[in-house]
Amino acid sequence: MASVMVMAGSAAGALLAPWLRALAFRLSVPSGEPDRIRCPSCTRELVSDRLWRSLLPPTGRCRGCRRRIGPPAGVVEGVAAALLGAVAGAIGPRPELLAFTFLALVAVPLVFIDIAVHRLPDRLTLPAYPILAGLLIVAALAGGEPHRIVGVLTGGLVAGVGYLVLVLIRPDQLGLGDAKLAGLLGLALGWWGLSAVVLACALPFVLSGILGLALLVTRRASLDSALPLGPFLVLGAFAVLLGTA
Ligand SMILES: [Zn+2]
Repeated sequence: MASVMVMAGSAAGALLAPWLRALAFRLSVPSGEPDRIRCPSCTRELVSDRLWRSLLPPTGRCRGCRRRIGPPAGVVEGVAAALLGAVAGAIGPRPELLAFTFLALVAVPLVFIDIAVHRLPDRLTLPAYPILAGLLIVAALAGGEPHRIVGVLTGGLVAGVGYLVLVLIRPDQLGLGDAKLAGLLGLALGWWGLSAVVLACALPFVLSGILGLALLVTRRASLDSALPLGPFLVLGAFAVLLGTA
């Protein structure tokens, strides 16, 4: 059963990847700038001006001038297929699978946007809150486990407020976008209780610390180069999710 779920999840990830790639491309702009819908080199229009109605092929290149645009070929597609496959395999055919699949679909473009421009746009994170909370609450009721609703709401609150405090203490290292993403991931991890939330909140610092040290040792970064935290938040949350589910 698990292998069928992994295959189905991977197929869904691969199928939705052109849409995730287009979202990552258009929202990889500095704060306050309009969406990117044209190729930066030849100005050819590459995605629709409607946020939710754009697709980009896995080549990662402009259709006109063939210059690289966005993440390298196949990377968004590979990450989406692997993540959705892993989530489907770990959770199985249960009511909460829809909620965790939705979270993975939001997380993939956020990771690529944060790597590109060190931002986690509100336009993705904020609308995801009510949708994720709604899907988790419906799943808890449908699965006859209403106690999980308290865990979900507590998890979102603890992770969001916890990171907000860290942003206030270290505004040079964390941004409000990180706190908003942490709250969203906290909702999901709260499904398994507070210890999963706390572990998922701590892991990003361990992971980014290890990578930062490796980059320092190999002289690919200096002490003042900042790593985006978003990808580590997502990595930590899904590591705990896959280990706990
Ligand atoms: Zn072009």
